Amino acid sequence: MIVSKKDIPNLLDKMIAEYDVLAPVKKDNFTVFKPIASGADAVLGEGNTKLPAKELFFPQSEKLFSYSVTEEGAKLDAPMDDKKKVLFGVRPCDARSLKLLDNVFDNDKFQDPYYLTRRANTVMVGIGCNMPSSTCFCTSVNSGPFDTSGLDILLVDTGDAYVVELVTDKGKALADQAGLAAASDADKTAAAAAKEAAVVTCQVNTDGLKAKLDVNFYDPIWEKIHEKCLGCGACTYLCPTCHCFDIVDDAVDCAGCRVRNWDSCAFPLFTLHGSGHNPRTSNKERYRNRIMHKFKYFVDNFNEIGCVGCGRCIKNCPVNMDIRVVLENIRGSEARLDS
Ligand code: SF4
Ligand code: SF4
Repeated sequence: MIVSKKDIPNLLDKMIAEYDVLAPVKKDNFTVFKPIASGADAVLGEGNTKLPAKELFFPQSEKLFSYSVTEEGAKLDAPMDDKKKVLFGVRPCDARSLKLLDNVFDNDKFQDPYYLTRRANTVMVGIGCNMPSSTCFCTSVNSGPFDTSGLDILLVDTGDAYVVELVTDKGKALADQAGLAAASDADKTAAAAAKEAAVVTCQVNTDGLKAKLDVNFYDPIWEKIHEKCLGCGACTYLCPTCHCFDIVDDAVDCAGCRVRNWDSCAFPLFTLHGSGHNPRTSNKERYRNRIMHKFKYFVDNFNEIGCVGCGRCIKNCPVNMDIRVVLENIRGSEARLDS
């Protein structure tokens, strides 16, 4: 199948009639995912969004339920967001990040109905990355610029059009509804050429990294690696795979609500116990946890690296901490503690 770029606004308008459609839109000098009211609002050619797609499934702040107790009895209200949605224009790394988060929110011990309801009701339409950014390293963490692993449909940019690859039955159903034209052999050849030409220039060698992290918890290298980090938490909020949260109850008399908020292992309060004890008192311990969580604990728990190589933490750190350099140093490559 194929869709011409000039027909994308119409295609999105058709989808808007049936679904809530979320697509990248312009905000200041970057793009973010927002619900769109018109297909013309979508901005698809500007690389990855500033904020990852995770907040569409796991919002930064979410009321889980509210309750009240009166003379008539107790009432509990736990609204579930079960609207049918299309996430249009998501990049393969962000789509894959949701596959990784599925391990956290849907496993043998825990199933999170809020996250899972949104996941089940959303069709993921991705756009491959013809021009990966200099900070992308997706191919070093088991992914790539045309990875379909978290997608229902992949669009491959061939210049004036997108060649449509159907990945799942959910994607096929959406494409059938949209009534797209068939791709010619020439279109398919153009898509293959676009894939061939897309080069991820940055490689991070992760060979042996997990084995190193298994034994280097007390290594002096952690004293140096964290030094520049301010503990601001920007990298964790912008990371598509970071998922720590805190739950608070807000109650007055016999009525209240329970709210889930993102949290960050970069913050000193994150591990502060009610007793006053804090097992991670220093920035060294907090930064070490961030690296350990992604490249050791996530692998131990789910057999996957908890990073998709999107590069957001590199682009947005106020003191230029570069996770690629950090990983190289941990592996024991040439010392490059100059990031
Ligand atoms: S964005 Fe940079 S300074 Fe802020 S917590 Fe992350 S690594 Fe540290
Ligand atoms: S750790 Fe950095 S590069 Fe990896 S997924 Fe998170 S923001 Fe992207």
